[in-house]
Amino acid sequence: MIQLFLPLNFLGFVYREIRRALTDLENMLGLLKRAPEIVDSRDARPLQFSAGAIQFNQVDFSYQNERPILQQLSFNVLPGSKVAIVGASGAGKSTIARLLYRFYAISGGSICIDGQDISTVSLDSLRRAIAIVPQDTVLFNNSIRDNIRYGRPDASEAEIDQAIELAHLRRFIDSLPQGDATQVGERGLKVSGGEKQRIAIARAILKRSPILLFDEATSALDSASEQAILQAMREVARNHTSVVIAHRLSTITDADNIIVLKHGQLAEQGSHDQLLAAGGEYARMWQLQQKQHN
Ligand code: ATP
Repeated sequence: MIQLFLPLNFLGFVYREIRRALTDLENMLGLLKRAPEIVDSRDARPLQFSAGAIQFNQVDFSYQNERPILQQLSFNVLPGSKVAIVGASGAGKSTIARLLYRFYAISGGSICIDGQDISTVSLDSLRRAIAIVPQDTVLFNNSIRDNIRYGRPDASEAEIDQAIELAHLRRFIDSLPQGDATQVGERGLKVSGGEKQRIAIARAILKRSPILLFDEATSALDSASEQAILQAMREVARNHTSVVIAHRLSTITDADNIIVLKHGQLAEQGSHDQLLAAGGEYARMWQLQQKQHN
């Protein structure tokens, strides 16, 4: 009987592992929400990356035809600069990130990286050039270290250690009994929203993409977590063109340019000080958020 039981038990184990792997994959695909119609154009070329300039030129977009989401939206992100996108909920901030990653096709205008229309370059090369730190990162049922390694599976151990340092994860990892071998994910240690975002930042560091897209978590983090994330972001942003979708204006006062969206249109843009002095939409949002914190 035991001779029959052991192989069956092993088969059960294999079955569970395969199911787990499929769930991980589903999670990942769910996260990417890739629209099926987006494929390489017939003569797609690899993106020739140089300085990392991003241009939105009179972009029109709607998810369903009847409701325009972005209208004639134009803005530039200078190479190596940090740009923040702000606006009320539903203004279209995350949509901009999805369009840059080409999850959807735009209905008018163009989006260019280093002068190349992203609809003409291969999806693979486009997505390799952009590292995303999403609001809610999916952690696989694996060790923290392997979850970080996922950013670039062929990274060396030394590179992973460096990413852990830069993402300000060292202290957290050292506080765990099994260090970076600690299992996380649905069946392992539950990590906080802030820790998850730092794991995502470490992945992004490993990916070594020249453009970084950071979608700030909407849920409030405690201020220690927020500070750790901000420090980690500053380290990473140093060598990147970075686009930050921000909900808390206090986190982006140092941005080189702040794009203020209203109903999918550009309401105003400038530095924090310029926008406060202008006394417009941004200044109103700032005053409101200041009041909420006091
Ligand atoms: P938030 O600050 O709440 O995250 P946001 O500014 O990022 O908001 P988007 O997520 O870009 O806003 O959404 C812009 C508009 O597009 C919203 O009205 C939203 O309801 C709509 N929208 C977003 N995703 C889809 C979708 N997949 N299908 C249809 N409409 C969508």
